Amino acid sequence: MKVLVLNCGSSSVKFQLVQTDEASAAAGRVHALARGLVENIGGLAILRYEAEGRKPLKETGEILEHKIAVERILGLLTRPDVGVIQDRSEIEAVGHRMVHGGERFKTSVLIDDDVLSGIEDCIDLAPLHNPPNIKGYRASRDLLLVPHVAVFDTSFHQTMPREAYLYGLPYVLYQRHGIRRYGFHGTSHRFVSRRMAEILGRADDPTLRVITCHLGNGCSITAIRGGHSVDTSMGLTPLEGLLMGTRAGDIDAGIILHVMVTEELGVTEANALLNKHSGLLGISGVSNDMRTLLQAEADGNDRARLAVDVFCYRLKKYIASYTGVLGGVDAVVFTGGIGENSPVIRARSMVGLEALGLRVDPARNDAARAVEADISPEGSTSRVFVVPTNEELLIARDTYHIVAGLSAE
Ligand code: AMP
Repeated sequence: MKVLVLNCGSSSVKFQLVQTDEASAAAGRVHALARGLVENIGGLAILRYEAEGRKPLKETGEILEHKIAVERILGLLTRPDVGVIQDRSEIEAVGHRMVHGGERFKTSVLIDDDVLSGIEDCIDLAPLHNPPNIKGYRASRDLLLVPHVAVFDTSFHQTMPREAYLYGLPYVLYQRHGIRRYGFHGTSHRFVSRRMAEILGRADDPTLRVITCHLGNGCSITAIRGGHSVDTSMGLTPLEGLLMGTRAGDIDAGIILHVMVTEELGVTEANALLNKHSGLLGISGVSNDMRTLLQAEADGNDRARLAVDVFCYRLKKYIASYTGVLGGVDAVVFTGGIGENSPVIRARSMVGLEALGLRVDPARNDAARAVEADISPEGSTSRVFVVPTNEELLIARDTYHIVAGLSAE
C-alpha cells in the first residue's frame, strides 16, 4: 500500500510517500519512495523534493495556500522525469500528523466528520498547531478521495496516571478547561521505545522500564513502563520540561507574572519571550542551534558553555527523577537531532548518574552518530542507546493498520 504522510504547519507542508505492507509494517521496515517539504506557503514558497533514484529538486514560486502546495506535491510525484507513481490514484491512504488530540483520542483514528469535529474541539488546547493540521487535512481530502488517518502527538501519553498529569491548581480548571499535562512528541517516543524493546528482545514485557530522550529543536523526555507512557516532561503545551532551542522549559510560574509587570509586557510579548527568545538562545545570546553553541563553547564563549551546561543539567535531573518514577531503568534512549548526533551532550548529561547504574562508554558513544547503537559499557544492566527516530514511518504504519482493517498499535 502506498501511503502519503503529511505534516502541515502554518506555512509549510512536509511530506513522504511511503510503500508499506503487513510484513514490512510489522517489522518496521517501511520504505520511503519520495519525500520533501514546501515552506513559506502564503508567499514566495520553496519546494524541495527528493525521490529514489532521481535528482533532488528545488523549486521556488508563489504558493498561496496549502491546497495548492498539496496539488504541487502530487504533480511532482506523478511527473514522468522525477515522479515515483504514474497516477495519483496509486495513493491508497493519507496519514496526517495531528498535534493535539486532547483526552478523546488515545490512538490513531480514521478521520470522519465526527473525528474532525473532535480535532476542532482541541483547537483551544493547541491554537497554533491544530488549525494548520486541519487545513492540511481539508486540502488533501478534496484532492485524494481515499481514507485519511489522524496520528496524534499526544495520544501515546494518554496512559499517564492522574498523579502524573494533574497540576497543583484548582481541580475545576481541569474539569472546565482540560488544564492538565498532555505531553507531545508521542509519535517519536512511541517509535524509539518500541524499537528499544525489540532490540532488547522484550517487546511484550510489561515490566520493561525505558526512558526516552527526544532532543531536537524541541526537547522532551518520557518514562515508559511496558510500552506505556507513565510520565513526560511537556505539559499542557510544548513549553514545559527540558531546556529547548528557544523555549524555556521548566520555570517558576511566578516569573511570568513578575516579568510581565516589571517589563510591562502584554500576553503576546510574554508568549514570544517564553517560546521564541528563551532556552539555549536566551541564555547564550548566540544561537538556538546546538552545533553552533558547541563550536562557540570550543572557541571560548562562556555564555554558550553556560547554555549547554543548563541543557545537560536539566536533562540529567529528569533522567534521575524518571528512574525514580519507574523504580529503576533498563534503558535510556537518545534520539532527535541532538540525541542522535552529539556524543558530547549524551556524555555530559549522564555524568553523575553512575550511582543509578547508568554509564556511557566513551568509544562506543563517540562512534554512534545517527545510527542505532548501544553506548553503554559491556555488561551494564542499565543500558544506554542511540535510536534514530522516524515519525513518518510510524504514521505510515498506523495508517496502514487502520486502513487495512487492523487495529492501530
Ligand atoms: P531536530 O529538531 O531533531 O532536527 O534537531 C535539531 C538540533 O539538532 C539542532 O540544535 C542541531 O544543532 C542539532 N544537531 C544536529 N546535528 C548535531 C551534531 N552533530 N552535534 C550537535 N547537535 C547537532
